[in-house]
Amino acid sequence: MFPSRPATRPLPALPAESRSGLVVDIGGTKLLVGAARQGEIARRRSFAVSQFAGPADMMDVIAATGRQLCQAADVPVSSAVVAVAGRLDRESGTVVHAANLPFTNFPLAAELSRRLDGADVCMEHDAVCGLIGETVAGAARGFANVVYLTVSTGISVGILIDGALLEGAHGAAGELGHTPVEWPGIACGCGSSGCLEAYASGRALAALGQQAAADGTSPPLAGKRAADGEITARDVLAAARSGDRVSASLVDNAIGLLTRAIRLLLMTLDPDVVVLGGGVMSNSWFAGRLARRAAMPAGRGPLVRRARLGDRSVMHGGMLFLGGRQHGPHPAGHGTAAMNGASAASPAAGKGAP
Ligand SMILES: [Zn+2]
Repeated sequence: MFPSRPATRPLPALPAESRSGLVVDIGGTKLLVGAARQGEIARRRSFAVSQFAGPADMMDVIAATGRQLCQAADVPVSSAVVAVAGRLDRESGTVVHAANLPFTNFPLAAELSRRLDGADVCMEHDAVCGLIGETVAGAARGFANVVYLTVSTGISVGILIDGALLEGAHGAAGELGHTPVEWPGIACGCGSSGCLEAYASGRALAALGQQAAADGTSPPLAGKRAADGEITARDVLAAARSGDRVSASLVDNAIGLLTRAIRLLLMTLDPDVVVLGGGVMSNSWFAGRLARRAAMPAGRGPLVRRARLGDRSVMHGGMLFLGGRQHGPHPAGHGTAAMNGASAASPAAGKGAP
């Protein structure tokens, strides 16, 4: 027998009245800090990730802001959940690697717990939180087989099968953005090249748009760059929509690649529904075109829908993990498994992705 671990885990089942505490969503571009009170985000504040000098600076701001917001919302800050886009070792609360964030082997749960007087801090993947948010209260409500595809700074998926979260044998399921679509292709933040994320993510559209502005092939983007000093994915989408040929071809290429990725998921997993979430999908023109392209012909098979909770999906799902201790005043290592009653957790479950 080779060592293995359960490839799925149950959805957390925290009742709404118990969902109170600090909820944090660390995206590649935007940091959201919120205070949850009985299943609602009572207060929240957002920050640009680029403003932080490093991980320690970010943890200081999360802790200070979290205290303020929780106090204003009249909820204790003794329990916190942090959703992160990246490769995580959930059991130890460590960010192993994040392609779009300055985290490498960073013990995030312990660092934040220390700043919050030993609060229980649980860390989760942002796509898993988005998946749960949309399944509990959004576009996938009532379904047990769901794929949540997030396209924002990066690209990843959260997968629900028969009501259980798919983690994979190494806890690394869902890193769809690092599937090669070109060879050798553009360098990716993960260290590889030609990844889907390097062509179809928000960061990729911004970088490719920046290039088109610099070499003068896109006059509208060159003008935007001269005025603002930078190009964002939103600028590229706006230019494409208003008829700029180069921007339109970048967007068409991204939609084509994402369509292939979604169809691959549909054909492999046959879910009830695929939910399109993340910052880039908040552009209804882009998400609508993608949903129409990726849907099966004549409405057969799985549904393809836009997320309904917008940029609240991740925080909404993250709330269900409050109290799922990874770091705090008690011994670490059994937090989420204990909360979920996952007695099947094997000794190997403590090991993160290699
Ligand atoms: Zn990659």
